[in-house]
Amino acid sequence: MSDQTSTQNPVTQYSKPPFERQPQDPPGLAGQMTPLPDHGEKTYKGTGRLLGRKALITGGDSGIGRATAIAYAREGADVAINYLPAEEPDAREVVELIEAAGRKAVAIPGDIRDESFCQTLVADTVRELGGLDILVNNAGKQQAVDSILDLSTEQFDATFKTNVYALFWITKAAVPHLQPGATIINTSSVQAYDPSANLLDYAQTKSCIVAFTKSLAKQLGEKGIRVNAVAPGPFWTPLQVSGGQPQDAIEKFGSQTPLGRPGQPAEIAPVYVLLASQESSYATGQVYGESGGAGNP
Ligand code: NAD
Ligand code: MG
Repeated sequence: MSDQTSTQNPVTQYSKPPFERQPQDPPGLAGQMTPLPDHGEKTYKGTGRLLGRKALITGGDSGIGRATAIAYAREGADVAINYLPAEEPDAREVVELIEAAGRKAVAIPGDIRDESFCQTLVADTVRELGGLDILVNNAGKQQAVDSILDLSTEQFDATFKTNVYALFWITKAAVPHLQPGATIINTSSVQAYDPSANLLDYAQTKSCIVAFTKSLAKQLGEKGIRVNAVAPGPFWTPLQVSGGQPQDAIEKFGSQTPLGRPGQPAEIAPVYVLLASQESSYATGQVYGESGGAGNP
């Protein structure tokens, strides 16, 4: 764990490779990773930047979504999280952390590859929280496959359903509830700009998310609803150890960046806070990179 506000050397602030091989079945659990990821549980300090807002975060149980959920709650927001039923142990911890911050937590497990579930997810969030101001489309599927010849139609379809269709379905259901000042934040990737050979399907979906973000920002600008994306580089999350990378790449995960290590989820949550808060009022249709020095934007 690292204090997030004192001046430190970012190279030595967190764990660096080599890491242990640690395969998990997808979607994986943060609680079973070595070292445990830092989602800001012990460090994130809020200053009321999202006081009274109501947020829905997909993939809010672990990784980047969990760090965002903790930060939003400590900034004064009530938070609904979506995740897969197999992730209940991670999700329970997030619910406790949101409640410990004195905010309302709503846990809505379910598979976002299903359009009717996406509609239910938004309707339940709006009912439980009494509205919606911040939508964070963050859930994602990533499974590395070396050759296009081994990439199945089933995987291609599941990756697009999770990363692209669900974003469309959830956002479509949410827009009628959003008022001027509301924000939508999507999670893209450096893979949209510098795709890896073994992430052929995933990288395409992350490009889709950039185009979706920029197009929708143009649609919703006049309504006063902002739409932005974050493009992370390598972050230490279950997505990566549960098939997002082959295990030999996990051993050296993040070593290729100028900072020489992966990012921890706690290090990217402040970007999601900024994009949700009124402080970023002129940012829409933007993609914010956070990649340790490699990749774009
Ligand atoms: P993570 O495994 O902690 O989060 C991904 C979440 O997606 C899971 O917790 C799960 O709840 C959710 N999910 C997957 N399939 C789902 C489904 N069918 N229905 C409902 N929920 C589903 O990993 P993370 O790295 O924090 O991922 C968050 C986002 O960040 C993803 O969009 C990912 O593509 C993106 N991203 C991650 C990295 C990285 O290096 N970790 C880099 C760039 C982008
Ligand atoms: Mg998870």
